[in-house]
Amino acid sequence: MRVSTFIILAFVCIQTQKAQNINISVFGEKEINSIVVNIKQGKYLLKKGKETLGEYKKGNIFHISRFGNELEIRDKRNFIGNFIEIELICTSGSGILNVKPVNPVAEGREYDDNLIMTCTDKQIRIINKLDLEKYIASVLEAEGGNHAPSEYYKAQAILIRTFAIKNMLKHAEEGFNLCDAVHCQAFKGRSTSNSLIQYATQSTSGKVLIDNESVVIMSPFHSNCGGETSTAGQVWLKDLPYLQSVKDPFCLRSSNASWAQSINRKDWINFINSSKSNTINYENYNFTFHSPHRTKFVLINGININLRTVRETFHLKSAFFSVKDTGEEIIISGRGYGHGVGMCQQGAMEMAAVGYTCLDILHFYFHDVKIADYREIELHRFKPE
Ligand SMILES: [Zn+2]
Ligand SMILES: [Zn+2]
Repeated sequence: MRVSTFIILAFVCIQTQKAQNINISVFGEKEINSIVVNIKQGKYLLKKGKETLGEYKKGNIFHISRFGNELEIRDKRNFIGNFIEIELICTSGSGILNVKPVNPVAEGREYDDNLIMTCTDKQIRIINKLDLEKYIASVLEAEGGNHAPSEYYKAQAILIRTFAIKNMLKHAEEGFNLCDAVHCQAFKGRSTSNSLIQYATQSTSGKVLIDNESVVIMSPFHSNCGGETSTAGQVWLKDLPYLQSVKDPFCLRSSNASWAQSINRKDWINFINSSKSNTINYENYNFTFHSPHRTKFVLINGININLRTVRETFHLKSAFFSVKDTGEEIIISGRGYGHGVGMCQQGAMEMAAVGYTCLDILHFYFHDVKIADYREIELHRFKPE
């Protein structure tokens, strides 16, 4: 382990003694060059390093633009200055900031707690530094919507927290912990006041999943498994003992349980030929196959087809499908939505709806795992895969 990594890990552990903050890069995919920040609630200090530039409260507005590698900041009336990095630090316990991108224009979002702004060579880097549990509630709302059962929310909260703790170093070299995109976990600003989401977050506070060696696990989830989850090895490079395939009867009547899509047969043949060194005339081949179970490859007429590559090429909902070749088009009948590894969200929602608990749900989708409080786990247990 590199020294810098060790220091960050030690910092994570020390931070766990009190309220744990997490740094999330927001709007990072939009190449933002100008924003308006509005204090919606609370009191704030505008800081450059340790120097305080001013005190502000609800109603104050900042116009922030990037010029080269500097940020130019103005408030309602005055030019404040040019800075390499600037922070808005909440001093009133709780505070809410609205961030509205104006170049390019995007819909504004509200964020809890603090903002750190700096520049990359392309954009303003906006980092929301907030309490970890507020982050969990926000992702829970983005992932689970506002109308799911309580025990599902609890299971999902534990998985979201497990991911955050496991991946604290994912963007360490860029100066933050996680991004707000699906690359990490969907984070669309502060959670609204859904009491079930707040309750699920608070009642599972600090809880993560660990494996039988007490290491924090990878905690993947997906929309719908189509009746059978994937092993880790079917989707990623290697198998993991806690990510086995399970038969899931709970999601079969949900909205994403099945789907169909047609592909032009010429496009299909181009795809098959592009994956080999020699081009073959497949006019008289029949590409029909039936996949009753999840599999990584199918062999048709001596051609090995990687189903995950088919999914990516044709933007399919899942890599769990059968094919009917009519001679004119390829009709794909698919099951599930997403990679299929770990917890099936629609299955978990149905389990919760018929009376299963959060623990029942997690033990159903993850093999031989336990729940632990991350604040009580030893330093080396944070070690990334
Ligand atoms: Zn990310
Ligand atoms: Zn399922």
